[in-house]
Amino acid sequence: MIAFGPVPSRRLGRSLGINNIPPKVCTYSCVYCQLGRTIKMQVERRAFYQPEEILKEVGEKVERAREVGESIDYLTFVPDGEPTLDINLGREIELLRPLGIKIAVITNASLIGREDVRESLMKADWVSLKVDAVQEDVWRRINRPHRTLQLASILDGMLEFAKAYGGKPRCGELATETMLVEGVNDSDSHLEEVADFLAQLRPAGAYLSIPTRPPAEKWVQPPSEKVINRAYQFLDKRIDQVEYLIGYEGNAFAFTGNIEEDLLSITAVHPMREGAVRKFLSQAETDWPVVHKLIAQGQLIKTEYEGKWFYVRRLR
Ligand code: SF4
Repeated sequence: MIAFGPVPSRRLGRSLGINNIPPKVCTYSCVYCQLGRTIKMQVERRAFYQPEEILKEVGEKVERAREVGESIDYLTFVPDGEPTLDINLGREIELLRPLGIKIAVITNASLIGREDVRESLMKADWVSLKVDAVQEDVWRRINRPHRTLQLASILDGMLEFAKAYGGKPRCGELATETMLVEGVNDSDSHLEEVADFLAQLRPAGAYLSIPTRPPAEKWVQPPSEKVINRAYQFLDKRIDQVEYLIGYEGNAFAFTGNIEEDLLSITAVHPMREGAVRKFLSQAETDWPVVHKLIAQGQLIKTEYEGKWFYVRRLR
């Protein structure tokens, strides 16, 4: 199926997914990939489907959604492989424009060193780049790239794209996504380097995720909450908007009035400092027992970073 959804997405609202690549054709074979090991690894861009066929399928889905009054905020290229391998990506975005819906692309950025790939991505309204690693050995271990790919060219390509993307007349919104895997890319020194690199990209939002679905390799584990919190703090020092993307439908800004649910929703998106929790409790005219209960139930964890206490959602 080329078009699926619309499905709710925290980053994109209601998103209609576009699968412009056949299953598991990718430039990477990430150890955490929820689709399993890559079946067909390639780096050559080529045509997979006719752009008109994609337009037809997406157009029909949009029409059906409109008939039943379902809104769509984004048309999102999020295939079971790497979307920029599709040589027609730019043309497809152009063909979809008349539908009048914003267009997003979620890419692993492995081909962004190429000018034609950057040109395709420039046409989208929202682009998410994968930045799991900025050190060669870590990158090879986590993303297991095609043997011809070069990390330096990818990082340079991202910087070049980020500079041009924010500066074009109709500004695009840049996001990044970093998957954390225990013992692979979660050392302090590596996370500091990732944070420094992300700061240079100046994304509108930087997202941290952890493997929440069965990974390609059984040994893959998310880091502890303490480490995830440290990663968050490293990024938060350098980037305006940092959030977790961990599979919970957390929304830090929608309060239900149910204190427990609201605390879990907020901490699903970012850690809370002790002072922020105190303020939250006082605004809700309640006290610490509710927090202690969530800790006793194992839903919330108290963890320390640089002498300060943070409350984080249990993620593992
Ligand atoms: S880039 Fe995405 S699709 Fe490709 S192997 Fe990694 S997680 Fe899977």
